[in-house]
Amino acid sequence: MAESAESALSVIYPENANENKENEKCSFEPEKKRQKTEAHSSAIDFKLEERLSGILCCAVCLDLPQTCYQCCNGHLMCCGCFNHLLADARLKDETATCPNCRCEISKNSCTRNLAVEKAVSELPSQCEFCALQLPRNSIEHHERELCSERPSKCKFSRIGCPWHGPYHELSRHEGSCVHPQKSGLEIMESLNKIDDIQEAEHRLYKDIFNLLSFEKVTFNDLQLKPYRTDDFITKLFYETSRFSAFNHQWVIRAKVIHDQKDPAHSSERSLSYQLVLKSKINQPITLHYMVLKGPYGEMKVKPAIYKHEFSSDSVEATHQDLPVIDAIECNKLLAAKTINMRLLMFQLPS
Ligand SMILES: [Zn+2]
Ligand SMILES: [Zn+2]
Ligand SMILES: [Zn+2]
Ligand SMILES: [Zn+2]
Repeated sequence: MAESAESALSVIYPENANENKENEKCSFEPEKKRQKTEAHSSAIDFKLEERLSGILCCAVCLDLPQTCYQCCNGHLMCCGCFNHLLADARLKDETATCPNCRCEISKNSCTRNLAVEKAVSELPSQCEFCALQLPRNSIEHHERELCSERPSKCKFSRIGCPWHGPYHELSRHEGSCVHPQKSGLEIMESLNKIDDIQEAEHRLYKDIFNLLSFEKVTFNDLQLKPYRTDDFITKLFYETSRFSAFNHQWVIRAKVIHDQKDPAHSSERSLSYQLVLKSKINQPITLHYMVLKGPYGEMKVKPAIYKHEFSSDSVEATHQDLPVIDAIECNKLLAAKTINMRLLMFQLPS
């Protein structure tokens, strides 16, 4: 076993050696790399899996990539880190580079590495609940449906039972759970909470249906493109080209909001956008508007309706959240060249 493991590795290591020989530009840290290689080959007692993990891991976060990209010199990056590097470069107005060899990286110059993805899916991974070792490609199913330690909730949680615990204790708890015996009066509070959440959702959809019944409704499929401000320290912003709706000209502007001074140092990013009127108007118009993914977009948004009364004194709506579901989605948008979306506008009858 140890011998076959060793021969498997000798197939992998020469690639590292070639890389240094063939590509002189790539030898930024040859000393380190050689040391690492030697350290690996001397530690024969390490399991093959562990050694492969060290080779197949993402160069940035060292995790094993489920979706794997590689630079033109073959350095590996997981999908999340790849998008993060591209998004960082966009924010700093720099060219994104591979953290290993500094070659340019972009959606066009980098390719997926399917062999790495498949190899990674065969490597063992530990169930986060019971510590069982399973191939990566079956761990999700195990953790969701099979693991006896997976966290579970009592089936009476809807009527207020707070119990949660490992799955193997669930049936014993449910057998003795006191909540089914509670009176209607006692379970009202937790039912009200569920109602509140559902009502808020209901209200949103009712509002959308109401807006869709307005006399004047329009939509535009727009593309936000990145620009830099002329300031000494330039800032990234996005703008669409002009589009017309309700006989006026409009644009959408968007910017990155973040909790720190330098957005490149923050991972908790989000985007805000504003609707700007570009034509002169004599009479104020009140608009409701909202953004959806649209046919060409990729962003995952929750619908959110905003409203603004446009007049000759107020041609810019206040900046509102672009309701992308999370910071990872936000990085994906920043990593892309442009942001595609559909803007729906509803004019309030005057
Ligand atoms: Zn990574
Ligand atoms: Zn590279
Ligand atoms: Zn498990
Ligand atoms: Zn219970």
